[in-house]
Amino acid sequence: MEGNQNYQVLLYYKFVPVEDPDGFATEHLQFCKDLGLKGRVLVAHEGINGTVSGTIEQTQKYMDAMHQDPRFADMTFKVDLADGHAFKKMHVRHRPELVSLRLDDAVSPIEKTAKFLSPKEFFEAMQAEDTIILDARNDYEYELGHFRGAVNPEIKSFRELPDWIRQHKDELKDKKVLTYCTGGIRCEKFTGWLMDEGIEDVNQLHGGIVTYGKDPEVQGELWDGKCYVFDERISVPVNRKEHVVVGVDYFDGKPCERYVNCANPECNRQMLCSEENEHKYMRGCSHECRISPRNMYVKEHNLSPEEVQRRLDIIAKEEAEKNKQEAM
Ligand SMILES: [Zn+2]
Repeated sequence: MEGNQNYQVLLYYKFVPVEDPDGFATEHLQFCKDLGLKGRVLVAHEGINGTVSGTIEQTQKYMDAMHQDPRFADMTFKVDLADGHAFKKMHVRHRPELVSLRLDDAVSPIEKTAKFLSPKEFFEAMQAEDTIILDARNDYEYELGHFRGAVNPEIKSFRELPDWIRQHKDELKDKKVLTYCTGGIRCEKFTGWLMDEGIEDVNQLHGGIVTYGKDPEVQGELWDGKCYVFDERISVPVNRKEHVVVGVDYFDGKPCERYVNCANPECNRQMLCSEENEHKYMRGCSHECRISPRNMYVKEHNLSPEEVQRRLDIIAKEEAEKNKQEAM
């Protein structure tokens, strides 16, 4: 272990009826603040979904208190050691749904969800024939890491997944479908609907990728790259047996696992990018984003208009060179 790992990051969710989610959210925020936690918690009539950070003592108190509540008595916490907070603030918000598919006809996960597979069962099922491994996450999460051979629906947000499923129903119908996501919540939410769409053999990874990586037996095997997480850590390791880099630099296609957001706040695109290319391209995903008057990189580095132009000229010259070669 490196550093002083006196902190923990907790990831958890539970689909369970919550009456008066608005009142619950207000009380829960105060409770978290009193404990000294930081993080993001969503509360809905269908349950709770959160990720919080704090000292080992603070997070332990939180878990104990939650387990005292009959609604959350059997809630699983995925726990990671850390050397500090993974968030800057504490938020608890009331939402209509914990994760949104924007489907009016979707069955509640409390009533129906696919069969849960343990990490070991999932590991074995992945290697069987007539199996489709379906990544239920967004494209930028897949790009940083995924199960070997998994299908990437190339969606920008979870709400786009039902459309993709409808378009690919024939490919999924007679196969054993294995779904996975970060902590399990997205799969638990959408696999009931998937079965209602006529796909019979649907199975979900219990506890998600995070649990799979911690499992003492499988140790994250068959996972390539890293796992994207929605806090300041950005990514966590999964495969403890081997590390295969699958991420590629947005600009030059070289292996890369470093995420940045486009410096144009109106774009904010997530991209894998080396430090060198961040400077070269002024963290802009396109020419438009580089010359945007709101470009944060230019502000952060106090670049003069002449320096911006100098860099733009280098990029333009290289691109012209590349186009010439491609034309030959
Ligand atoms: Zn951009």
